[in-house]
Amino acid sequence: MDDYAVVLNAGSSSLKFCVYRRPPSEAWRLEARGQIEGIGTTPKFSAKDEAGASLGRESLDAGSVRDGRSALDALASWLKARYGGARVLGVGHRVVHGGATFAAPTVITPEVLETLRALIPLAPLHQPHNIGAIEAVAERLPGVPQVACFDTSFHRGQAPVAELVPLPQDIRDGGVQRYGFHGLSYEYIASVLPEVAPEIAGGRVIVAHLGSGASLCAMRDGKSVDSTLGFTALDGLCMGTRPGALDPGVVLHLFQTLGLSPKQVETILYKKSGLLGVSGISNDMRDLVGRDEPAARLAVDYFVYQAAKQIGALAAALGGVDGLVFTAGIGENSAEIRERICRASAWLGVELDARANEARGPRISAAGSRVSAWVIPTNEELVIARHTGALLGLTR
Ligand code: ADP
Repeated sequence: MDDYAVVLNAGSSSLKFCVYRRPPSEAWRLEARGQIEGIGTTPKFSAKDEAGASLGRESLDAGSVRDGRSALDALASWLKARYGGARVLGVGHRVVHGGATFAAPTVITPEVLETLRALIPLAPLHQPHNIGAIEAVAERLPGVPQVACFDTSFHRGQAPVAELVPLPQDIRDGGVQRYGFHGLSYEYIASVLPEVAPEIAGGRVIVAHLGSGASLCAMRDGKSVDSTLGFTALDGLCMGTRPGALDPGVVLHLFQTLGLSPKQVETILYKKSGLLGVSGISNDMRDLVGRDEPAARLAVDYFVYQAAKQIGALAAALGGVDGLVFTAGIGENSAEIRERICRASAWLGVELDARANEARGPRISAAGSRVSAWVIPTNEELVIARHTGALLGLTR
């Protein structure tokens, strides 16, 4: 009988999954990847095989797939119909916040789960969904080991000045520090640089993970030196619905002058700001690029301005830069945003090759460019699969 391992990335409105299969006496290989999106509104299921051929695409009943748990049930029925009777050897999860405790992936125990629950206030938009998926799998597949892989772990080991939140000691003692996020994506990029971009792999690289959440990571020799996300996933770049870097006085204003409640402020900061808040139209870059409305243009201009400005800051943290890498939804798919960020970074020595940029690279800088630029599709699920396999002793 073949063995299987499953990777889950549970978000607020989507459940992404990968299924890895290990036929007798062969190595693991990707069998299927897909997602249930639109959870809570108009749920849709889609899955593809390793070669990208569709394995299914259907609208799901909004009444029965209304939250993460029911989405997991829908996924379980699909898996059962397709792989009925198969043995699941392990499940790996993306977990956004590992706090200061988890500097590496870990096998989930009741104690680990308790620690992860305590981190919910630091990542209210993501952590509850990650934990919900772990609990749901434990109920449905009791005895199957699960592994948590954290978006924060890759950033551990930064210099004290990069991790510091300069508040009084008693507050810092409660875990207030800069953690950084998107670490699974950065870890994947660091793992493929020696093969895809060997000339910069050992050097100073800024990776721009530009998706609905967005951040930059400064790497030296494949290790995180600094990043733009900090204590929570609110800092740094402008994002789909989050503002990025904000004068903390604005938050005081929301509480003291406007009299908003903590819940209202949380909703503004996590769900109503960024591209959506500035444009008043959409949080999706695809809906904004090329539009004429001044508010849409301002949102895109601000996104590009902040990205370029913070590339400059991370270049300073690195003492110079050898390469710039674009990844995630916007970074991989929008030639226009890449072009604009590279143009704004010309002073650093980035010179774009327009045709290579349209063709998505992987190298998108001109031959003589002092700083090379790249597009590298990320693969967070593969990183989770590797860690899950290694921690559970599944790999051979
Ligand atoms: P998540 O952070 O949810 O994993 P992704 O990395 O998949 O997100 O990125 C999703 C975002 O990518 C979308 O919200 C959209 O703004 C953006 N995106 C995808 N394709 C394009 C495109 N062709 N042009 C501009 N933006 C795009």
